[in-house]
Amino acid sequence: MKMSELSPAILVIEDEPPLQKFLQATLSSQGYQIISSVTGKDGLMQAASRQPDLIILDLGLPDMDGIEVTRQLREWSAIPIIVVSARGKEQDKVMALDVGADDYLTKPFGVGELLARVRVAIRHAAAAKQETGDPVFTVGDLRVDLLHRQVFVADQQVHLTPNQFKLLTVLVKNAGKVLTHRQLLKEVWGPFITQENHYLRVYMNQLRQKLEADPSRPKYLLTEPGVGYRLVVEVA
Ligand code: CA
Repeated sequence: MKMSELSPAILVIEDEPPLQKFLQATLSSQGYQIISSVTGKDGLMQAASRQPDLIILDLGLPDMDGIEVTRQLREWSAIPIIVVSARGKEQDKVMALDVGADDYLTKPFGVGELLARVRVAIRHAAAAKQETGDPVFTVGDLRVDLLHRQVFVADQQVHLTPNQFKLLTVLVKNAGKVLTHRQLLKEVWGPFITQENHYLRVYMNQLRQKLEADPSRPKYLLTEPGVGYRLVVEVA
């Protein structure tokens, strides 16, 4: 049965007792309902039976790989997944994102970072459910009208090339979520050049030149080092 509509339910799949405890205490203090699980197998079962609004998934679980848990979940579910990985395990994080995780946290992380990621993931999932959602995306001074293919910065129209617009569209449709280099390359240039990270760097720089007040210190189009890029949904 689905839990109360008023307070979102979060399934925490984490085998380390201190971290499980920290996540439970922090999230329940914000009013979220918590379902906890310490193995991948049980986590998958809980996800199916309880239908949480968000899953926080540790990648290092005793019985199965968190990447495999993500892959299995994505066969039947679009519930947002935030993966938790150890420092130095960048490759695992990227693999989890490639198979469908929405975001990640690197241990150790603070309360502020955790809650911000949780809010964005839940909001993104709610927006995705509304299929007829607003085709206009706004953050700070940036406004992207997907329907009319127009982009404005502080009410001034900005002209983008078709590929620049395509890249921006993918980011807008996934706003708030981190997208890996591979995902972005595949969406914009197709499945055969997923290794060409420099294409992406060039186009991202062009977009920043056109959209950011200070392209060297972007506010909207953020770099996720070693992982990919993220278009923010709120300006810090
Ligand atoms: Ca672990």
